[in-house]
Amino acid sequence: MRKPRLMTPGPAPVPEDVLLELARPVIHHRSAEAKSVIIEVVAGLKDVFQTKNDIMILTASGTGAMEAAAVNTVPPGGKALILNAGWFSKRWGDICKAYGINAVMLDTEWGQPVDPDQVANALAQHKDTVAVMGTLSETSTGTGHPVEAIGKIVAGTEAVFAVDGISGVGAMECRADAWQIDLLAVGSQKALMLPPGLAFLSVSDKAWKKIDAFQSASYYFDLKKARKKMAEFDTPFTPAHTLLLGLKASLKRIREEGIENVWARHKRMSEAAQAGVQALGLELFSARPAEGLTAFRVPAGIKDSDIRGELEKRFGITTVGGQDKLKGKIVRVGHMGYMDELDVISGIAALEMVLSDLGMDIEPGRGVTAVQQVLIGSRALAAR
Ligand SMILES: *Cc1c(COP(=O)(O)O)cnc(C)c1O
Repeated sequence: MRKPRLMTPGPAPVPEDVLLELARPVIHHRSAEAKSVIIEVVAGLKDVFQTKNDIMILTASGTGAMEAAAVNTVPPGGKALILNAGWFSKRWGDICKAYGINAVMLDTEWGQPVDPDQVANALAQHKDTVAVMGTLSETSTGTGHPVEAIGKIVAGTEAVFAVDGISGVGAMECRADAWQIDLLAVGSQKALMLPPGLAFLSVSDKAWKKIDAFQSASYYFDLKKARKKMAEFDTPFTPAHTLLLGLKASLKRIREEGIENVWARHKRMSEAAQAGVQALGLELFSARPAEGLTAFRVPAGIKDSDIRGELEKRFGITTVGGQDKLKGKIVRVGHMGYMDELDVISGIAALEMVLSDLGMDIEPGRGVTAVQQVLIGSRALAAR
């Protein structure tokens, strides 16, 4: 068997100390130990989210936190403005439709960042908007959206700002409070270095006011119930406690590195990956790349499944292709969470060999050199 190298934008690799936590005996969820775990992870999550707001812990994949945000803040028939720029932001619209929320789609071309001016215009036109739903890192296109600028605009209205930070939080700068994000949804299996199964949602006072104004249609994702229990560092239902033990360990890693250093590491990895890909003559898909993954266009004459298949077969590297209308058109490589600069170097080196074998005219070392140039330069800058 090949040494597995999971380079997907979720799930992402899990470090050994976290894996060991997962092997411990299951504890009871109403025990004193369980409570102390929740106290500790909530503090750690607040640091990662950069928030003083409440954080709810949900046992679900990341989409569960999105669903909880939508169904609890916007009553049926209420209006939500969806910043639709890819497969995952479209999901906000699908969730709204499932609950009878009036989803107004503000469409942005895939791969382009959402234009804050257009958000301002849409909000001026739809003054009854209850929530704006956007994305920090659109994983389907590898795009980072200008969440800070959008947050400023939404904050000047009655609407709350809900952000899907599932592949972004912990992989790129995101400050929930300073950027005026009312609801920030995150899943465990991306930059938080855990297996899938937990979702987190921060909730601002402005959002609680919307939530308290009506009774949501969801039983399991009732945030009022969650708030009541979280006040006692408990959850309404049995949480995935094994994962919470793992989370304690992964948050400790983040705390020791420092969240700003974690962001800086991802920024370096992402700039290096972009340089490496471009040095090989490949084209980046996104006009404003996210920092936890890199998406590039499949070069003419080669199939995306050949590139990904060879990476997997020869080197044990798992990557993903495009979703929906990008199927076959792009390759997406994750570098989030438990990843470092050498992972990017080896990933680009593998890509050089695979593309060469597939018949592209690749000078070996060219991509790797470009990666190293970025890394050497940014190290020198960081030291100054
Ligand atoms: C992974 C991802 C999701 C989906 O999360 P699940 O955990 O599969 O529910 C949603 N949004 C973004 C931006 C993602 O990257």
